[in-house]
Amino acid sequence: MERETYEMASFRNNRELAGDKGSVEDYVFLKSQDTQELSVQPLLQESRAFRSGMEKGLLMGGGGALLAMGILVAALVCHFRKKEENLKKNLEIDAVTGLGNKLYLKRCFRQKIREENRTSYYAVFFYTDTERMMRQRGTRETEEFLRRGAKMLRQYTADTDILARAGEDGIVLFKQASSPEKIRRWMELAFKEIDEERRARGDFREIWATAGVYPLKAADWDEDVILLEARRIARVAHERGQNFLICDQEIERQLEQERALQAEVKRALEEGEFTIYLHFYVRADNFQVIGAEALSRWNHPTRGFLEPDSFIGLMEKEGMISQLDFYGLDKVCAFLERIFRKGTRDFFISCNFSRQTFSRPDFTRQCREIIEKYEFPREMLVLELTESVSAPNVGRIYENMVKLRQYGVRIMLDDFGEGFATFSDLRKYPVSGVKLSKSLVDDIKEEKGQAILQAVVQVGRSMELMVLAEGVEDDEQVHLLQEMDCDIIQGYRFYYPVPEEVAEERIAQREGRS
Ligand code: C2E
Ligand code: CA
Repeated sequence: MERETYEMASFRNNRELAGDKGSVEDYVFLKSQDTQELSVQPLLQESRAFRSGMEKGLLMGGGGALLAMGILVAALVCHFRKKEENLKKNLEIDAVTGLGNKLYLKRCFRQKIREENRTSYYAVFFYTDTERMMRQRGTRETEEFLRRGAKMLRQYTADTDILARAGEDGIVLFKQASSPEKIRRWMELAFKEIDEERRARGDFREIWATAGVYPLKAADWDEDVILLEARRIARVAHERGQNFLICDQEIERQLEQERALQAEVKRALEEGEFTIYLHFYVRADNFQVIGAEALSRWNHPTRGFLEPDSFIGLMEKEGMISQLDFYGLDKVCAFLERIFRKGTRDFFISCNFSRQTFSRPDFTRQCREIIEKYEFPREMLVLELTESVSAPNVGRIYENMVKLRQYGVRIMLDDFGEGFATFSDLRKYPVSGVKLSKSLVDDIKEEKGQAILQAVVQVGRSMELMVLAEGVEDDEQVHLLQEMDCDIIQGYRFYYPVPEEVAEERIAQREGRS
């Protein structure tokens, strides 16, 4: 143990670009002054123009004056060159942590990691769900956390290593080590130190970082691909509740499966293997069908009929869920147009959208493009914001909601009471309805469960929101929800999800058309 501590200590004071220049705070200062391109570019141009002017002046002078002038010009040229170099360097600094950013990483990767020493490097990706942390602890605390992490890692960075902020959610360290065992011991000590430092500050909450370690192979020349691999491994560590994971054969197999899924989803969308099932909603007061929820199903050629639990989470993690969400929206809009043409009124369909899809910058544009292909009143469509494996860009979700509301499409918060959505979201977001999660409904018969549900329904109603309950399975639950004044009920007590063709027939029967 003593030797290991010594090994760690020997990394201390071996500082990278950032470390040589002073404290983390210095970097934040540098960045705020120098890395905004708008202010840097004119400065760079100014320095270049000045230099070239001076160089011309040098040719025109004469004698001693010329020499003095020459020295002065040389000094100035030197000064501006240095300034230019500094400005370029500062463009490589991350504002929050003071570490190098991706530009810095790119440059150092080319300089330090070459074919002959590549396999001695390990890419260690420290992953933090910064979006979630910001929601729960605020921006200031999140940034402080990142700064502390950066400062600590900088102490353990040798000259041959590269430490950089690799994106919003992670810091990467390219570390040289003689064996996977060495790196494992190093990781254990690093996390022990993180833990001790946290406790010393009186912070006993969970550690908000997990790490993925990817040993570089001889053929790994692209730092972006390496980052992606290390990040994936960090994410697997996060899912398994482990501090860190070093890529081994089992993890390689898992990652391979995910890659295969990506290819499969692409094919399945092209081949039309995804279908939608509709799950009817009934009014709580008279049990009349007033709408339905669209749920995806995958008719897989070899694995059979797949329910969403086996593919939605994976697709979210792989960043592929929006393809399915938009595909589903298209099918729902086509369905709405068909039933509207046949005379159906007072009916809506809710369509599930992952938070990931909802936070896309092109979300409203894509929705509009799909919706405008079909003819039906916009109020027949409701978008459900589902709970997802992660809660990305909250600000963007809000902006997209506002735009869609203006466009006439209603939005509902799904699975309320289960995940990220809070009471304050009800106030902040322009939503028309809230869907109580099945887990809340499951506890309705217990005293405390009932009190919670009652409170949530009351909050919803007092904000004039449509209140829906899902997962309702028996008469007692129905009765209690009626007493609470819930508006709409969905669950196996009334209907099971059915293929869209079956749903269309039932709607026609409801309206006496068949
Ligand atoms: P969800 O939106 O909460 O949908 C309700 C799920 O509970 C559905 O499962 C539904 O079949 C099931 N359910 C409804 N009533 C009852 C009940 O009384 N008892 C029980 N035991 N279960 C009930 P499903 O279809 O397997 O969907 C699971 C989740 O997958 C959905 O949860 C939704 O979040 C997600 N999902 C489905 N399709 C899509 C999609 O196209 N895009 C996205 N982003 N998510 C989807
Ligand atoms: Ca839903």
